[in-house]
Order: sequence, then structure tokens, then C-alpha cells
Amino acid sequence: MDDEYRERKINNRTVRIDRTLCIGSGNCTNLAPEIFVIREDNIVDFQDETSDIDQGRLEESASICPVDALIIEDENGEQIVP
Ligand code: SF4
Repeated sequence: MDDEYRERKINNRTVRIDRTLCIGSGNCTNLAPEIFVIREDNIVDFQDETSDIDQGRLEESASICPVDALIIEDENGEQIVP
């Protein structure tokens, strides 16, 4: 997998980061700091260790991304964010 793409299972959802789109705005890290972190290159990544979080907050933290760099799919592979 390309180094600029990340994928992780959280809350029985598939969460993806497209680091080529991220502009480091910090919206997602402010809302879900236990999931997302801004690295030294000012681009978002998953925290080394992530845990399940409130589903609504997870979805909101991805949907507020101004450049749609965060994607969430449900357990059936249907994209629910953005
Ligand atoms: S909200 Fe989007 S642009 Fe901002 S840090 Fe998160 S992924 Fe990057």
C-alpha cells in the first residue's frame, strides 16, 4: 500500500486517511485526538494506538475535514463519510 494512504478498523468501521489531500487543518485531531494525530510533516495520521470511540464523534471528526481526506465505510463496505 502506498505510504500516503492509511487504513484502520475502528468501531467496526473502516477508516481511511488520504495523506495526499490533508492540509493539516487540525479539525479531526481536535475532535478525535485519541484517533488522529498530526505528524512532523504537518499531515494527519492515525495515533499509534487507537481505541473505539463514540460513533457519532468519529463520523463528525471525519466529516468536518475541509478536503475530504478522511473516509469511513460501514461494515458492508458502504461509504458513509464523506
Ligand atoms: S481535518 Fe482533514 S485536512 Fe484537517 S488535519 Fe484532519 S485530515 Fe487533515
